[in-house]
Amino acid sequence: MQDKLFINGEWIASASGKMFDVIDPSSEEVVHQVSAGNATDVDLAVTAAREAFDNGPWPKLSGAERAGYLRAIATEINERLDELSKMEVLDNGKPYPEAKWDIEDTAGCFEFYADMAEELDANNNENITLSMEEFTSKAVKEPIGVAGAIVPWNFPMLMAAWKVAPALAAGCTVVLKPSEMTSLTALEFGSIAQKIGLPAGVLNIVTGFGVDAGAPITAHPGVDKIGFTGSVPTGSAVMTAAARDIKNVSLELGGKSPMIVFKDTDIEKAVEWILFGIFWNQGEVCSATSRVLVEEELYEPLMERLIEETKKIKIGHGMEEDVLLGAIVSKQQYEKVLEAIERGKADGATVACGGGRPAGIDKGYYIEPTIFTDMEEDSWIWQEEIFGPVVCVKTFKTEEDAIRMANYSRFGLAAAIMSEDEARGERVAKAMQAGIIWINCSQPTFTEAPWGGYKQSGIGRELGKWGFENYLHTKQITRYVSDDPWAWYIK
Ligand code: NAD
Repeated sequence: MQDKLFINGEWIASASGKMFDVIDPSSEEVVHQVSAGNATDVDLAVTAAREAFDNGPWPKLSGAERAGYLRAIATEINERLDELSKMEVLDNGKPYPEAKWDIEDTAGCFEFYADMAEELDANNNENITLSMEEFTSKAVKEPIGVAGAIVPWNFPMLMAAWKVAPALAAGCTVVLKPSEMTSLTALEFGSIAQKIGLPAGVLNIVTGFGVDAGAPITAHPGVDKIGFTGSVPTGSAVMTAAARDIKNVSLELGGKSPMIVFKDTDIEKAVEWILFGIFWNQGEVCSATSRVLVEEELYEPLMERLIEETKKIKIGHGMEEDVLLGAIVSKQQYEKVLEAIERGKADGATVACGGGRPAGIDKGYYIEPTIFTDMEEDSWIWQEEIFGPVVCVKTFKTEEDAIRMANYSRFGLAAAIMSEDEARGERVAKAMQAGIIWINCSQPTFTEAPWGGYKQSGIGRELGKWGFENYLHTKQITRYVSDDPWAWYIK
């Protein structure tokens, strides 16, 4: 496991020499230490990325040439699939099959953007029809420059890939800052970059805390673009910092996404997707459908089955077989989730299931899958993101009611609709104020499709061609082609 910073193609100690602990959330034990980067380290990393962008070959390579590097990264990740998945379990606490899925998706993301880089070679001259025939014009895509990628801890390697892969494909150079909770797999991008011979300075990795290593990236004049994923308050700080020198910024922030279950839904299907929508990845999912709205007539039988299945979820170490709920990522997050549960209880909501630490597990940051009912629409627990295995369930009477309740939120990342009525699914999908709508499912995420939120859930879109555009400028090139003089001043 790496413990240094990856800058200009080399592993170097942080300027301060300070390190911080990597803690396994399943055992609460210190398993490693990594470097605590600061503004001096960020400056070195940005300088390397700037040099690689301004004077290096990277942005001038053809898309096909860059695609070769991206595919080599994907191959390396796939070859180390088991090892990287175990590293993610150790660092994040999630169950192994989920970690494996993340790492496979990480490789897939590099493959997808390799294809996009190649396509750019073929399609990078979009002719524009103008209203004056004396001119021709075309739009050309160019890399934005040096990209700062700041990512959270819930899908450590995958969230980094969502930024690093499109940025590299576009021809940008990158300074990546992983979350201080989960540095390990992100650092492996450095080993992989070295192994495949990525030119020095194209990818730089600075580990460290948000204020020490994240903020200096957002403030650095050498950075052209910030791709940020994290909480709303940090997103707001990032945007404020980026405003000082008008950096291009995209933000993927939090959510409190609704799932509307209409009474024509099969109860087994509804229960399966409610469970997957909130308990997968310990509920540490920005798009988790943590507010469930159930049509009144279905409520009682559905709750009975939901509680029954929730109680069966096996909680434990991510490497244990059949475990479906691992440890919460850190002590801090564990305490935050427990506090949220206490707040829900104090506000008068009913704990229908779970509500604390699982019995019989003495070590590790484990929390039972928890279901709340009977909360007010304006209550904290119904309105605020908990980012843990806690779901709130309410009833509704009419479709109109459900739409109003679902949209009554400052967030707008995702929404799920369960109904056998296709027309209703389409109608309600259109009425949702959210960037990602799932019908008869919740959470499936595809590299090809746009990802991002309405309202305070963010600005811009990641993934697919939209995620590629994040790292590209569009340049207009217009030519005067008439043989006649322009004859405005000189007649
Ligand atoms: P966070 O905002 O605390 O931290 C995110 C990253 O920002 C970390 O790397 C952190 O070190 C860094 N950071 C902290 N302060 C900073 C500052 N002042 N300047 C620059 N960087 C700074 O979020 P988190 O706890 O790591 O992640 C959980 C949040 O992320 C949740 O709100 C979740 O919904 C959101 N999230 C959103 C998506 C999405 O796609 N919309 C995906 C995953 C997570």
